Amino acid sequence: MAIKPYQNSVGAAMNTTQTKDALVESAPSKTLRTNSIKNRWNYKSGFDRGHLPIPAQYFITQGIELKGKGSWRDAICPFHTDTKPSLRIRLETGAFRCMVCGAHGGDVLAFHQQIHGLNFKDAAIALGAWIGGVR
Ligand SMILES: [Zn+2]
Repeated sequence: MAIKPYQNSVGAAMNTTQTKDALVESAPSKTLRTNSIKNRWNYKSGFDRGHLPIPAQYFITQGIELKGKGSWRDAICPFHTDTKPSLRIRLETGAFRCMVCGAHGGDVLAFHQQIHGLNFKDAAIALGAWIGGVR
């Protein structure tokens, strides 16, 4: 019985040129994304996050009582008829999320917008964080 010789695979060397072509074709078009970022920046250029009130003090002024200890506090949710504290508030950032109705946002500005029905600029003005001209 004869032993068959080992055969090398010839196709292995062909992959390099294909990879090169794929890289050239996948160059992304960034025009649309760049424009939307620019507009958003102009819209918010009068906003200074450093002027936002400290979350712990802000929520007191809104009649929100913070319960518990640590960086995440519990509160009665003002966005739905709440009987036990369902709203979770992060003290460092003012981020909030209700475990029942799903209301959520990333800072006290987002909270102020939602609770008073204000747009971004009006909420920023109300909180003293709008340093641009007010027309
Ligand atoms: Zn809620």
